[in-house]
Amino acid sequence: MKSHRLRSLMVALLTTSVLLGVSGFALGLLVPTETTVTELAPGVFFRKAQWQPDFIGCNQGWIIFEDFVLVIEASFPNQAEALIKEIRKTTDKPIKYVFDTHWHGDHADGNPVFVSEGASAIASESSREQFLNKGIASFDKQKQEKPAEYGKLKYGVPAVYFPKKMILEDATQRVELIHLGHGHTPGDAVAWLPKQGILFTGDSCVNGAFNYTGESNTSSWISVLTEMAKMPIKIVCPGHGERSDAKLVETQRRYFVELRQAIQEAIAAGKSLDEIKKTIDLPWYKEWAGVTVRERAENIEHVYKELTSKT
Ligand SMILES: [Zn+2]
Repeated sequence: MKSHRLRSLMVALLTTSVLLGVSGFALGLLVPTETTVTELAPGVFFRKAQWQPDFIGCNQGWIIFEDFVLVIEASFPNQAEALIKEIRKTTDKPIKYVFDTHWHGDHADGNPVFVSEGASAIASESSREQFLNKGIASFDKQKQEKPAEYGKLKYGVPAVYFPKKMILEDATQRVELIHLGHGHTPGDAVAWLPKQGILFTGDSCVNGAFNYTGESNTSSWISVLTEMAKMPIKIVCPGHGERSDAKLVETQRRYFVELRQAIQEAIAAGKSLDEIKKTIDLPWYKEWAGVTVRERAENIEHVYKELTSKT
């Protein structure tokens, strides 16, 4: 995903929480300036990453098994280091695996930091090509741009790939890593904790104006979200933004369903892409995401291309 500044809604909510003198996070409000760690269930931790004033990376998590720790999302290298410090406050068990929901740098560039701790990175087999091509190229670019953070590191492609599903289980925890299909990227996967009803979604589901559709297939993404919605979810830990419940999956799905529908109708009415970009309106989107649907122009362009492509 990319960094996006959310505006008045977030500011208003933040102001409200400050005025109330309590943590907005505790109230379930959006607090984009805070990075928080919460133990969602015994041994299951969620780290929400702030995205204002600076976007620092994706949300992460860790799960403490009897003999080892599974990390969810490596994030950027500096956030990988920050996460390890947080993990060490909760356990001294070895970090054995880091699960990357997809190849994007803000989710997976921290892999080598975990590898140097003795961990192996895991991702879906459908993401392998992207790690080997786009991932390496983007990491090399970051090395040029952020030598202090990336300079000493060698790109860490996953050591373990799973086809559709991989299960990690012992007497205390069960985590299912599942590739549900092409959503945000061709290789997205989620981490599902069936005992606790907790789903870590990566960028298949985000909470706010974080959707990046550049490598997506929005039709297939809707199917992925339909499958996700069938799970008995209690808590959703999205790739970006505040954690939520099963309703978030429905909201995320609604965005793509209605975006496609509105653009399809406009095309049928003979509107050009430029006209659609100026006139499309989904008022509820702003309530959720803090920006208007028109402000996410690249998503409109992507869906327009999908709907008008001849292939
Ligand atoms: Zn992403």
